[in-house]
Amino acid sequence: MISKTLQNALNNQIQSETYSSYLYMAMAAYADSKNFKGIAKWFKVQSSEEWMHAMKFYDFLVERGATVIFKAIEQPPSDFKSILHAFEATLEHEKKVTASINKLYELALKENDYPTQIMLHWFIDEQVEEEANVTEIIEKIKLVGEKSGSILWIDNELGKREK
Ligand code: MG
Repeated sequence: MISKTLQNALNNQIQSETYSSYLYMAMAAYADSKNFKGIAKWFKVQSSEEWMHAMKFYDFLVERGATVIFKAIEQPPSDFKSILHAFEATLEHEKKVTASINKLYELALKENDYPTQIMLHWFIDEQVEEEANVTEIIEKIKLVGEKSGSILWIDNELGKREK
């Protein structure tokens, strides 16, 4: 049986992953409003991925016979100032998610909850990938400059993302 503390922490993570999904859709809408259709697509795929993360926690809680609680989702910002800033905000957000996954892992260790530890391994790997991908995009945008025509090449490249 999963502890109440861990159950609550995992439900908070569902909330956080769902907020991520919401936030990235807000970024997609911002990119669409600037006619960066490829970047908008990248954020839409990212948003679906975050919903899938929330569902992984959902499935895990159900399997453990725990109670799933869908907590209120905060309204994300709608103006991100620039495409570069949107990706920088993405990295900043993912770093916070990484910290919360690490905290969950610490809690699972403290409580000797082995299934939760094993389930979290996937998320620990995933966060390394998330941060690396976004860092690469930020570096590329900085390299070409947001005002140059090369940003259209980045828009085209990011639009190829399927999952
Ligand atoms: Mg996530």
